Amino acid sequence: MEIVVCIKQVPDTTEVKIDPVKNTLIRDGVPSIVNPFDEYAVEAAVRIKEQYGAKITVLTMGPPQATSALRKCLAMGADEAVLVSDRAVAGADTLATSYTLAKAIEKIGKPDIIFCGKMAIDGDTAQVGPGIAEHLGLPQTTYVQKIREVSPHRLVVERVSDSGHELVSIPLPCVVTVDKAIGEPRYPSVKGSINASRQEIITWSAADIDAPPDKTGLNGSCTQVMRIFTPQIQKHNEMLSAESDDALCDLLLAKLQEAKIV
Ligand SMILES: Cc1cc2nc3c(=O)[nH]c(=O)nc-3n(C[C@H](O)[C@H](O)[C@H](O)COP(=O)(O)OP(=O)(O)OC[C@H]3O[C@@H](n4cnc5c(N)ncnc54)[C@H](O)[C@@H]3O)c2cc1C
Repeated sequence: MEIVVCIKQVPDTTEVKIDPVKNTLIRDGVPSIVNPFDEYAVEAAVRIKEQYGAKITVLTMGPPQATSALRKCLAMGADEAVLVSDRAVAGADTLATSYTLAKAIEKIGKPDIIFCGKMAIDGDTAQVGPGIAEHLGLPQTTYVQKIREVSPHRLVVERVSDSGHELVSIPLPCVVTVDKAIGEPRYPSVKGSINASRQEIITWSAADIDAPPDKTGLNGSCTQVMRIFTPQIQKHNEMLSAESDDALCDLLLAKLQEAKIV
């Protein structure tokens, strides 16, 4: 079985602050980590490898320093790592990101399963996994919490939705995005980390994956972030008092009607 896991290097958002003047993220000095949901995706892939046998390729699109995120995934048990890095892919929105990753996956081969995290903690859109499936014309299932069955042509998974839990049978090849309930990611072993530090990271440009410049990076993006800001929350408290509970209720009702809440 061939598995690709898409992983993103993200700033540790617990450390990120917003510049109050420029309204932009202050990234200086902020450590980069593997997007936490993607570690769960790697763990899901490694468990399948351990039980059924598989080759796992971890894939990221990002700047050269994203190799450290790939190495962590190699240390967790992935076999191969691919970085797509090129000025032509910079500034991509989710459409261009998922297109670029889909082109890289086509070059990797014909994986049976493509795992993604359910979302990235910096972008938070949860659009890239479904976008990859659309670009590749593959079936997809999202927010997966448990992999129940793995067979050569099908997965049976449990996913969570607004209306409850769903049991989904999905044919391979497919795209699966995973939630944290899928299983706690393992700590890389010392031996795994040493091996990973020596392993080659395959690096491709946009031309290497046959991605035309009008479909990648800023040129291939339909959307652009205009501004990032913290919403101003204006809190207003008013204490009510009256001679009796009934009078207090009437007063409260009048206030709510005045504010057009009831
Ligand atoms: C409206 C809009 C406009 C944007 N405009 C810009 C812009 O102008 N400039 C800019 O720099 N960014 C922009 N972004 C952010 C950029 O699109 C995202 O960082 C990127 O596309 C990934 O989306 P996400 O972080 O929401 O990932 P999600 O869709 O939340 O991630 C889901 C999963 O997809 C996979 N994944 C996501 N990104 C990658 C990756 N790079 N490599 C490998 N796997 C990945 C991971 O498995 C991840 O868990 C924009 C985003 C939005 C929503």
